Amino acid sequence: SFGDSDAQREVRANDRQYVFHSWSAQNKIDPLPIAKGEGARFWDYDGNEFLDFSSQLVNLNLGHQHPGLVRAIQEQAGRLATIQPSIANDVRGELAKRIVEHSFDGARSVFFTNGGAEANEYAVRMARHHTGRQKVLARYRSYHGSTATAITATGDPRRWANGVLDAGVVHFFGPYPYRSEFFSESPEQETERALAHLEHTIQLEGPDTIAAIILETVTGTNGVLVPTPGYLAGVRALCDRYGIVMIADEVMVGFGRTGEWFAYQGFDVQPDLVTFAKGVNSGYVPLGGVVISEAIHNTFGDRAFPGGLTYSGHPLACAAGVATFDIFEEEGILERVRDLGSRVIAPRLAELAAKHPSVGEFRGLGLFWAMDLVLDRETREPLVPYNAAGEAAAPMNAVVAACKAGGLFPFVHFNRLQIAPPLVIGEDELVRGLDIIDAALDVADGYTTG
Ligand code: PLP
Repeated sequence: SFGDSDAQREVRANDRQYVFHSWSAQNKIDPLPIAKGEGARFWDYDGNEFLDFSSQLVNLNLGHQHPGLVRAIQEQAGRLATIQPSIANDVRGELAKRIVEHSFDGARSVFFTNGGAEANEYAVRMARHHTGRQKVLARYRSYHGSTATAITATGDPRRWANGVLDAGVVHFFGPYPYRSEFFSESPEQETERALAHLEHTIQLEGPDTIAAIILETVTGTNGVLVPTPGYLAGVRALCDRYGIVMIADEVMVGFGRTGEWFAYQGFDVQPDLVTFAKGVNSGYVPLGGVVISEAIHNTFGDRAFPGGLTYSGHPLACAAGVATFDIFEEEGILERVRDLGSRVIAPRLAELAAKHPSVGEFRGLGLFWAMDLVLDRETREPLVPYNAAGEAAAPMNAVVAACKAGGLFPFVHFNRLQIAPPLVIGEDELVRGLDIIDAALDVADGYTTG
């Protein structure tokens, strides 16, 4: 139980003996035992407190134990805990309706999945059937999930570790002004050249072989890469020109992370398919899905869609999803995300960047930010190499250790320290977390050579 070292030891022992963990060498990990959580904080069994600047895996948008979410799940469990997907059900229909109503122009329906990877699998499958084409273009520096097509679409080394599971995936580069692939000198130039590169890729692959372009609206795990001005509209125009389906992967940024219901709404672009998961119900019960345009919906009007899942539209998950919409309205979540991002985080990160030579660049919006840490500001050499592990990752491991020692649970990926707290985080908590990061950056500064 809480505050009990014996409990802490027993949880750790059972975990080490019996639980097989994701993405890990099983002998090289020591998972943190966690007993309870509330809002943006959680505690181990000894009562040590952590402030969560990572929203778990950037899914806990409404924080731990939100009473509205807990109540919705309890009420639904008391009424109808599960029902198979070919049945019509009140919370399933209500959630689909609310998602469609908050989505792009011409959004028609929702296909529910158990999470984000499956949502991307199904979106690609729909695009392939809709267009009769096979290829999918996806970006480097992306993460789309760990099932066959989703991991192949992923644009980081985890893709190859899983083998070639979907031969139709082709990668291209997106905009990243700080580390430009296009030798650009301004964001506008970056947009123009990134779009030219994409169009060349389309032409060389053959437009009539390409079913879809899938991209994270704001790249998440791979660096909080905010699209440069006009980039997403340019991708939309290329999709229109060549009859390609545009899939926005909003698994990480959907449901408020950037201060919009869906991040694409801040960039004035209308995708054909939108995938979501995580924030739809903060992960209290696994849920994901695909928002489908009228045209793609109609492709499967008279012919059957070949696919399905036993738990598609699970009532416990959907009840929490409906409650999410109510809570967002009641608590003005989108407004507070924009306010905290622009009034508290942006100016503080500017201060940290001025003070700490290890901060090469900071970027983001809403409650979604990253600091690109470097050894040398002039050369922009990353604090640790891309894909660093073991000894090579030591400087970042030291930064993480400093954060944890200060009581902060951070989100790091290679040389980046990312900031993605629950959207309900208190302003005082946010400031305290940024103070802890300020101190941890002293550790990073110790490695700089510039
Ligand atoms: N797409 C994006 C952008 C993600 O960030 C993630 C997970 O982090 C996924 C897809 C995969 O989601 P899941 O882990 O629920 O399968």
